[in-house]
Amino acid sequence: MKIIDIINSKRTISFEFFPPKKEEAESVLFDTISQLKKFDPDFVSVTYGAGGSTTEKTVEWIRRTRIDYGLEVMMHLTCIAATGEVIESVTSELDSIGVKNILALRGDIPQDMNPEDISREFEYASDLVKFLKKNGDYSIGVACYPEGHIQTRNIDKELEHLKLKQDLGADFAITQLFFVNDYYYRFLEKCEKAGITMPIIAGVMPITNISQVIRFTQMCGVEVPSAIISEMEGKGEDDMFSLGVDYAVKQCECLWKSGVRGLHFYTLNRSGATEEVLKRLF
Ligand code: FAD
Repeated sequence: MKIIDIINSKRTISFEFFPPKKEEAESVLFDTISQLKKFDPDFVSVTYGAGGSTTEKTVEWIRRTRIDYGLEVMMHLTCIAATGEVIESVTSELDSIGVKNILALRGDIPQDMNPEDISREFEYASDLVKFLKKNGDYSIGVACYPEGHIQTRNIDKELEHLKLKQDLGADFAITQLFFVNDYYYRFLEKCEKAGITMPIIAGVMPITNISQVIRFTQMCGVEVPSAIISEMEGKGEDDMFSLGVDYAVKQCECLWKSGVRGLHFYTLNRSGATEEVLKRLF
């Protein structure tokens, strides 16, 4: 089923996984998917390495989640290092397992990538959206950034680029994770004014390790409220877990009450925190 049809029929709950690099981590992901399947997700998604480094593993996990677990699944697909031929070979694998859902992304240039490998065919995610629309019948999601994208700090420009993705065929967007709901609410207002009418699903992540989150958010320009940082810093694993879950429950409750079209959980391949949040939310 196409994810846009699900989104148009209800408010969605979805989970994001990444293809594990090591064998030991595979069994963790199997357990995570089994645990989270109980919550009857509307769809799950599997990430993709920006230089195409995870193509095989991403496709394999897409197949497993769809066929072994019977879940509706969306593949993240980046284009920063791709040619049309590469994209076509990936999409034909998706077609062969009946997956019609793609999150069309540019990706970040990996530090070890040779500049010559940067795609000349796909400079931005909008180029991929256009290509997918022309070459198949997919439900296309795209990324968006309530606090702005690190490369384009001018929000009006950022909205122009998002609108272009919509105009070229994107059906819906999923946000970068955020911890301050006001950024999301303000972003929705700006999108409406800019004529961006596609559903915008909120990306959320319960914090279980504050130092890891600070490192990541500094790289992508997402604010972590100083109150959470000071509450969590110096705490042990268990205390940090329960503070992170409490915060995420409150955040999701407010989003749900505000009428959010969907909640997309960045699970980091662990089920614990997302499970706790969902048990308390519904
Ligand atoms: P784009 O939409 O191409 O935007 C990139 C930058 O270029 C933005 O600053 C934009 O404003 C600017 N821009 C766009 N069009 C133009 C134009 N015509 N002229 C000038 N500037 C322009 N990364 C991965 O490697 N793998 C994943 O699986 C993955 N999954 C993600 C899932 C979600 C929900 C999100 C939010 C991000 C994900 N990312 C992933 C990260 C993403 O690849 C990076 O944030 C990347 O830097 C931008 O990708 P994009 O698709 O938003 O790019």
